[in-house]
Amino acid sequence: MNKIHNFSAGPCILPQEVLKGASDAVLNFAGTGLSLIEVSHRSKEFVEVMEEARGLVKELLNVPDNYSVLFLQGGASLGFLAAAANFSKGGKTGYINTGTWSSKAIKEAGFYSEPVELATSKDSSFSYIPKNIDFPSDIEYLHFTSNNTIFGTQFHSFPQVDTNLICDMSSDIFSKEINVSDFALIYAGAQKNMGPAGTVLYIVNNDILATMKTKIPTYLDFETHIAKDSMFNTPPVFSVYTTMLMLRWIKGNGGVKEMNKLAKNRSELLYNEIDSNPNFVGHAQEDSRSMMNVTFRLKEGADQDKFDKMWQEAGISGIKGHRSVGGYRASMYNALPMESVELLVSIMKDFSKD
Ligand code: PMP
Repeated sequence: MNKIHNFSAGPCILPQEVLKGASDAVLNFAGTGLSLIEVSHRSKEFVEVMEEARGLVKELLNVPDNYSVLFLQGGASLGFLAAAANFSKGGKTGYINTGTWSSKAIKEAGFYSEPVELATSKDSSFSYIPKNIDFPSDIEYLHFTSNNTIFGTQFHSFPQVDTNLICDMSSDIFSKEINVSDFALIYAGAQKNMGPAGTVLYIVNNDILATMKTKIPTYLDFETHIAKDSMFNTPPVFSVYTTMLMLRWIKGNGGVKEMNKLAKNRSELLYNEIDSNPNFVGHAQEDSRSMMNVTFRLKEGADQDKFDKMWQEAGISGIKGHRSVGGYRASMYNALPMESVELLVSIMKDFSKD
């Protein structure tokens, strides 16, 4: 089979060695003679995996000691609710709405707080990250989505606020250095830069959490999972294991600093082509462009069938834009080789030659 260049928005490309390691463990996990998916999650071997995964998160992101690292289930979609349940006492919470995922987070926050949309880029099809926002002093926290996977926008600097900061980093975590101590809570679904679907990473400030103490359902309560080292109930063993392998891979390939360099190189190459090629136009405004998800479309009159045939025949997969935006979206997460971006760019050039 010819090589496939996987630009999928998530679940997405993972390195071959991570896929190989995961498949080996499905057949024989850590020399036990048992499959990863048939051993007890309480076995010494799996407990070590969970510990290594949490340790790698701490190391790669320089997580301070007063934070807990959790791997739970429910997707980042449950994170929307868990954030509000754990970090609101029922008062006003502030949200920056940069598209679909922030809108969903606002909806869920309504179950535990009074969410206020403080800024939005809805007026321009979520093509930019709002700036110069006034943050009221009475919000319990400010929530934002660091990278909008669908519209292809990304915060290049984070809001400076006096209140607790909460961020959904599902689509750009481990692609750049961050200062964890700025945040009360960071959460991210694994299935983009960090692993397969099935688990969500939470990085929780224990000191702030201890001041909240509201009565919430057991499973939603971060304290439940902190007390049990993410083993309150059966964890998603396959997802946690494969994520651990991906975190090892990130570490072995230079850590988040190096991931950031690669992401910059990939996205610059593609944005340069979009800007210089007469047949294409980008969706996101220049200062808000995402390094992870590059959204673009063909200009009026360009032959879409021809372009689609060209990239499909070249083995490119997953660049159709999200149904709410149309056009194209090239998702370029940590594991995407530069070679795949070079191929896409060369097809765009060839398309515009004649
Ligand atoms: N937040 C962001 C930024 C996302 O991109 C996604 C999914 N693509 C979600 C949240 C929802 O994640 P999940 O499917 O894990 O619930």
